[in-house]
Amino acid sequence: MGWLTRTPTRVLGEAAPRALGRVAQVILLATLLVTSLTLLAAPVSASSGFGALTADAVYGRQMTFRVTLGSTPERLELLLRFGGDDNTFVAPVRPAGGAATYVWDAAQQYVTPNTRITYRWRATSAGIVSLSPEGTLVYADNRPGLDWHSTQLGEATVHWYGGAEAQAREFGALAASGARSAEGLLGHDLAGPVDIFVYDSRADFFGALGPGAREWTGAATFPNIRTIFMWLGGGPPSYLRTAVVHEVTHVVFYDATNNPYHDPARWLNEGLARWSERQSADQERRIVASETSQGLFSFEALTGQFPIGERGSSLSYAEGATMVDMIARQYGRGAIARIATAYRTGATDEEALRAGTGRAAADLYAAYFGQYGTAVPKPISPEPLLPAAAGGRGSTNAQPPAPTASPSPTAPRPVADPISWALLLAVGMGGAALVSGALWLRRRAGRRGAP
Ligand SMILES: [Zn+2]
Repeated sequence: MGWLTRTPTRVLGEAAPRALGRVAQVILLATLLVTSLTLLAAPVSASSGFGALTADAVYGRQMTFRVTLGSTPERLELLLRFGGDDNTFVAPVRPAGGAATYVWDAAQQYVTPNTRITYRWRATSAGIVSLSPEGTLVYADNRPGLDWHSTQLGEATVHWYGGAEAQAREFGALAASGARSAEGLLGHDLAGPVDIFVYDSRADFFGALGPGAREWTGAATFPNIRTIFMWLGGGPPSYLRTAVVHEVTHVVFYDATNNPYHDPARWLNEGLARWSERQSADQERRIVASETSQGLFSFEALTGQFPIGERGSSLSYAEGATMVDMIARQYGRGAIARIATAYRTGATDEEALRAGTGRAAADLYAAYFGQYGTAVPKPISPEPLLPAAAGGRGSTNAQPPAPTASPSPTAPRPVADPISWALLLAVGMGGAALVSGALWLRRRAGRRGAP
């Protein structure tokens, strides 16, 4: 028997697949909106038509959803929701022989492993809409050779394969204590448990992160599915121990600031995570001081993605951590929790900083750069485009092309952090650290037979 539930009123395009092309998204969305608008007016009734629901998946290849049907409806659709996303993906399915099957091509449309997918079938006949019960599929990374084991430590469940049990258990314990510290700092508890997957090889790790991952990624967090991916090759053990605390702080930060309007400033997210590694920013203060002569970054320039490149990346993390440290020292740790609370209720970056410190963001920025004896960085104006480049028409009056108003759904993005050697090179630490890091990498490469 189906549930007596109204047709969902909010039906948007794909939620999790990041590889779906823009054109495909628009076509899909248009189809779905027409479908949903048609159905909004339809009455909803009980269904006696749904039999057993099943779903299974082969990671990186496909997800398969099946249902048996007592009768053949005029229209049948599969409704999918990915992780914590509110959007619903609607796929028309043609029944055959008293059953229906829908196959999601996961080789073409990447889905992050450990995503929990809820699904239900929707049948329409003679204007009557009926919904099946809801099923759940966890899209596990079940690639051959990954014989996963797991254990729970506090709010953290750590998963490992091969011979990584000791390291994984240590990560789990560190994540559990790191989460407690971050909860205290941010004044907000985790909204649910966190999963940590520990990958041994680079190929396995990047196979989990999917096609969009930057090649320098050493650890990544998908806060929306409360999942952290660690790579044992991301750095020496000391780095990995701090990295897992860093990553779990991202999940607590996500919960503490979650709102339907916007992501908090990136420098604050990364700065808090970096600061939490050692509960200080002493190392980062030295980095900022050493880079002052070459020019620091404005905080307004660090609200979205960080610059790519060693100096840009290193300095961005360092400025974030030192700003967090300055706020915590001058306004008390409670200021961090007040900032998070403000974000959670929809504040802008400026409003959140004022709620936390009582001071305008511009004043905070000025005080920050004043510590390093520099003025607040000024925006750099772009060079004007040549007429030919702007419009290709050789006319100075050429209008720039209007933006395409395409309702592209937001795919979940990970918070990705660089591997440790890139940081070591970037911050110019002592030769001993570099040598030991290089030796460690070489030893590891020899052991794994991989770069
Ligand atoms: Zn991070």
